[in-house]
Amino acid sequence: MSIYRVFVANRGEIALRVIRACRALGIETVAAVSAADRDSLVARAADRSICVGPPRSTDSYLKIEAIISAALGTVCDALHPGYGFLAERPELAEACEKNGIKFIGPDAESIRRMGNKIWARTLAKEFGIPVVSGSEKVRNFREATAEAGKIGFPVLIKAAAGGGGRGMKIVASAGQLQGAFEMASAEARAAFGDPTLYLERYIANARHIEVQILGDRHGNVIHVGERDCSLQRRHQKVIEEAPAAALPLKLREEIQNAAVTIAKKIGYENAGTIEFILDQDAERFYFLEMNTRIQVEHPVTEAISGMDLVQEQLRIAGGEPLSRSQSEVKLSGHAIECRITAESAAHGFRPCPGLITDWQPPDGAGIRVDTHCYAGYRVPPFYDSLLAKLIVRGENRIEAVGKMQDALEEFVVSGIETTIPFLRFIAQRLEYVKGEVNTRWLESVLAASSFQPAAAESAAI
Ligand code: ADP
Ligand code: ADP
Ligand code: MG
Repeated sequence: MSIYRVFVANRGEIALRVIRACRALGIETVAAVSAADRDSLVARAADRSICVGPPRSTDSYLKIEAIISAALGTVCDALHPGYGFLAERPELAEACEKNGIKFIGPDAESIRRMGNKIWARTLAKEFGIPVVSGSEKVRNFREATAEAGKIGFPVLIKAAAGGGGRGMKIVASAGQLQGAFEMASAEARAAFGDPTLYLERYIANARHIEVQILGDRHGNVIHVGERDCSLQRRHQKVIEEAPAAALPLKLREEIQNAAVTIAKKIGYENAGTIEFILDQDAERFYFLEMNTRIQVEHPVTEAISGMDLVQEQLRIAGGEPLSRSQSEVKLSGHAIECRITAESAAHGFRPCPGLITDWQPPDGAGIRVDTHCYAGYRVPPFYDSLLAKLIVRGENRIEAVGKMQDALEEFVVSGIETTIPFLRFIAQRLEYVKGEVNTRWLESVLAASSFQPAAAESAAI
């Protein structure tokens, strides 16, 4: 392994995950911590930690200069960005390169090309991959009206620079277009610093299917199967599975090949995910976007493949070839992940930071919990509310669902509110157990349950 010391430019469970993968490969780690995370498990688990700024992420985890100078100051030869924060900022990959630090991810050019969804759609189309019918950039409400007329309602307004489900608006009819356009534009500017919008036909009965990709610098590209991430709230994933049980067999190979084609054509290096939307009525899939980083839900793929995707990322960045060829990737069983957050589902998913007084995660065969939490940990109010990811694996989907129900029952967290009660409720629904869902299902269950979302949310559905 040509990497000696990795700078971990993230926090929470993914920072711990990266530290463990490094340790397994005999690589040293330095964790970047904000002043609020000085005593975190991450700070303790790394060989060394260094404070990169005050609690607010704009002053610490999002500050490229502070991150780079801390990595240089601690003599790190590589940097792992995790997900979120700076993971998809080409400027970070560039700054790493300029300073002789290996960026554990693709090069800046790949991040830039795929980071703009309009460009990414154009590329996918060039490669012969189906994309949802939609528009180029729409500059104003007038252009949006003309384009929506061509596409037909309902349309989805999306941000070119979008991520995390933000800045997206479903528009049912022409009358709603102006208000939605102005709101989406303002939201995109505030969230991403880029108000550029485009339109896509809105697919109502859809599934989110994505394919895990790995590419090395020797020209090898493989996929590690697909995931179904259709259980979403506000276009953000809540429960993810692998494989995608509902994907018609004839489409499975096609969607995997489509993903490999895209990654090959752009000369993609490292781990990435190609996201697709499956129209369940038409039994057709379309390219949505590419995420040029490790994803939150990567453990479900690990659970059915036996591969360690973060170790794979480290090897790739170190110049080694992929550890497996396509034919050596064997997928078996079924895995499910639940995202457990510090939120109160009963109060419109209001964030609930604070002191965790009791923390007893489930355990046993086929159960994995990725977390940075423990009894006595105080969840800071400054960051994403993800506390833990519960991952279960069964021989088949039914076994995995049963295991997840049991594991959720066993999970005890006191002191703060979490989404565990809400996840228990979902895991028991018959449609969920049978796998008869689409990307709108979770919100429709929420709207009809005692987990009443705030009024604004129900209106958005
Ligand atoms: P995944 O596809 O890996 O589930 P998500 O879209 O849920 O990814 O995003 C992973 C993390 O990154 C989340 O914490 C999310 O809030 C954050 N995130 C995603 N996109 C952006 C973005 N453009 N700007 C800031 N944070 C983002
Ligand atoms: P983000 O960058 O925020 O992750 P995506 O383009 O990946 O944005 O879309 C996030 C989610 O929004 C999808 O998983 C899906 O549920 C929904 N979505 C996106 N595009 C469409 C579409 N054209 N029709 C229906 N739903 C969509
Ligand atoms: Mg996405």
